[in-house]
Amino acid sequence: MDYLAGLNPSQRGAVEQTEGPVMIVAGAGSGKTRVITYRVAHLIRKGVDPFNILVLTFTNKAAKEMRERIMSVVGQEAKNIWMGTFHSVFARILRVEAELLGYPRNFTIYDTDDTKSLIRAIIKEMNLDDKLYNANHVYGRISSAKNNLISPQEYNKNEAIMAEDIANGRGQLGQIYMTYAQRCYRAGAMDFDDLLFKTNVLLNKHPEVLHKYQHQFKYLMVDEYQDTNFSQYLIVKRLAAVNENICVVGDDAQSIYAFRGANIQNILNFQKDYPDVRIFKLEQNYRSTKMIVNAANSVIAKNQNQLEKNVFSENEDGEKIKVTRAFSDNEEGKIVAEAIAQERALKGLKYKDFAILYRTNAQSRAMEEALRKINIPYKLYGGTSFYQRKEIKDLIAYFRLTFNPNDEEALKRVINYPRRGIGDTTLEKILVAADKQQYRLWDVVVNAPMFLDGRSAGAVGNFGLMIQSFQAVAKTNSAFDTAMHIAQHSGILKDLYEDKSVEGLSRYENIQELLNGIKEFSEREDIAEKGLDVFMQDIALLTNDDNDKDPNADTVSLMTIHSSKGLEFPVVFIVGLEENLFPSQLSLNSRSELEEERRLFYVAVTRAEKKLHLSYATSRYRWGTLNNCEPSRFLDELNPACLELDFQPRSSAGGAESFQSERVVWKQREADTFSKPKPKVVKTTSILPKAHVPTPGFAPSDTSGLQVGMEVEHERFGFGKVINLEGNKPDIKATIFFKELGQKQLLLKFAKLRIV
Ligand code: ATP
Ligand code: MG
Repeated sequence: MDYLAGLNPSQRGAVEQTEGPVMIVAGAGSGKTRVITYRVAHLIRKGVDPFNILVLTFTNKAAKEMRERIMSVVGQEAKNIWMGTFHSVFARILRVEAELLGYPRNFTIYDTDDTKSLIRAIIKEMNLDDKLYNANHVYGRISSAKNNLISPQEYNKNEAIMAEDIANGRGQLGQIYMTYAQRCYRAGAMDFDDLLFKTNVLLNKHPEVLHKYQHQFKYLMVDEYQDTNFSQYLIVKRLAAVNENICVVGDDAQSIYAFRGANIQNILNFQKDYPDVRIFKLEQNYRSTKMIVNAANSVIAKNQNQLEKNVFSENEDGEKIKVTRAFSDNEEGKIVAEAIAQERALKGLKYKDFAILYRTNAQSRAMEEALRKINIPYKLYGGTSFYQRKEIKDLIAYFRLTFNPNDEEALKRVINYPRRGIGDTTLEKILVAADKQQYRLWDVVVNAPMFLDGRSAGAVGNFGLMIQSFQAVAKTNSAFDTAMHIAQHSGILKDLYEDKSVEGLSRYENIQELLNGIKEFSEREDIAEKGLDVFMQDIALLTNDDNDKDPNADTVSLMTIHSSKGLEFPVVFIVGLEENLFPSQLSLNSRSELEEERRLFYVAVTRAEKKLHLSYATSRYRWGTLNNCEPSRFLDELNPACLELDFQPRSSAGGAESFQSERVVWKQREADTFSKPKPKVVKTTSILPKAHVPTPGFAPSDTSGLQVGMEVEHERFGFGKVINLEGNKPDIKATIFFKELGQKQLLLKFAKLRIV
């Protein structure tokens, strides 16, 4: 059987061109991922050792699926391919090489919670204002520094960065970054960004290691290359430098991670990096109907920055795209749920043929409620991961301490859980003692009597002894026996067992579930190393989506558009197509941000194989307030010939014009709403600031005469004062201090401002 028969000539060309640099930049659904899969199978068929192949995917799930397909062609050999996300592959390499960087092989991977909790602790120690130094913001700065390979030392020496921080009133950021890095090092821990940053350090500082991996990975392939950041780009470039057998595939029109540092230039520069690159074009979309491809093309054509591509489909014409208007988010949920029930029955589909995609996680609530009401089974992707639940994290913290007692976030988490008489004051004393003398927390714990008095020294000392006893157990026992021993002797199992509330019961069951998972792991026959430490490495990088216990379960999929990348479903619903939600209100300040939102919409549309539904609500609760919404501009941008409106258009014209008239009507309704008594608002508790309700009759004014010191009102951000103006017409940037939201920079030509 010709195993390459399922490829068209260009795909086949790209598969057979195994030597030298290859780039495939092609539209959605054109078989890029398929090419990588076949290419790997082809290499192995040609006799390449799977150990010499490295494939980098965007999710663990994608890697798993690819491996299964390759296995069906080449058999068990496929197990030996190096395949996974950047983070999982390089975490594995760092385990082997950690000692060269001064880290233990059993280093801990700090997740986002650990990272933020450590950052918060440092901000507190430095007596900084935690509103100005918001942990999320600080984390973002540190993350972005690492992804641009700026070390703490370089950060603090870089005058431009320091000047920027000082101008923003956050002059201490460099010091926080420095302390954060020292603390992670002291704890033998790396955060997610470190997995890439330290890999770069490793390959840069240790030529012999670089040499080893350059020769190990004779063939490299990267899927979704448009979403790699600088740090990832450089790793790939270094590893490929000797053999140059590198194949990257991507689609500039689907680049949706710029906010996380992804750099579309990586695609554009590939040709410069490898002048003899072979470029393959894939233009035929095999996924979607002509209608859907046509609609997707009409949207993306509105972006100025894109590579020319001609995407076509030879599939059936397909049904028109249905657009539905709902009065509220709850009604939108109801409409979607009912449409799923109906379409499933009518077309003989399964629940798993349907996906509901949304811009923000918060939108899942209305959808979930509606699905539950009529008993439609669903699975929520990207929700709280099993491994992020409190009870699971608690037990895992004990495991982490057992293998790396220097892990300070784990230590702080469980030193007094379950309660053993070590109060906050004692913990504070331990922290201060460690800090003063630059000891590790663990050193203070095992030498408790030197630092603490009587009773607390006893309690802390016993905690240390307990962890040491776990270490002894782990040395000679299986993963499951060790885990069970720790669950019992730490007191966690008993603590949860005694809690007879419904939540307590479910927490107890979750622990059981974790232990079952470890049992299965201990009994696996396909891996040689089955210690609890190996299990821990596996789960540190898992997300909820990878933990899909039964991928064949018949359930509707609910997820954000970001997590739908690379996937496909026969029927797709994109919900919440409203201005300020999609496109997001945070993206309206510049063209590049708006273009990224549009690419996100393009990704969403191109997930659909046979039928696409779009919907919007005319009112929606956001931040506890009922807001009127207007239809998204993206609806106007779709080719009107592809649309079928599920409501009476307000003007006689069809398609796009209807949405514009919707907007006019909306404006009118808004005016009515604000002149009448406000609609009854059901209060929901929220800690977020309320969305601003513009003054009745709000209309943006001419801002050409705007001066520093003037008071303004912004449509959404509320009232504020201009504190700086810079740049030349028409690109003048205003820095405005908003009463509710603090400081923001806006491009005047886009900002809807009213001079008060
Ligand atoms: P995306 O940009 O969304 O990641 P992609 O370019 O990676 O898409 P694939 O997921 O590889 O596209 O392919 C899309 C669909 O088309 C898949 O179901 C795939 O099996 C199918 N397909 C691709 N090429 C062919 C072909 N030559 N013959 C039949 N089906 C194909
Ligand atoms: Mg793909």
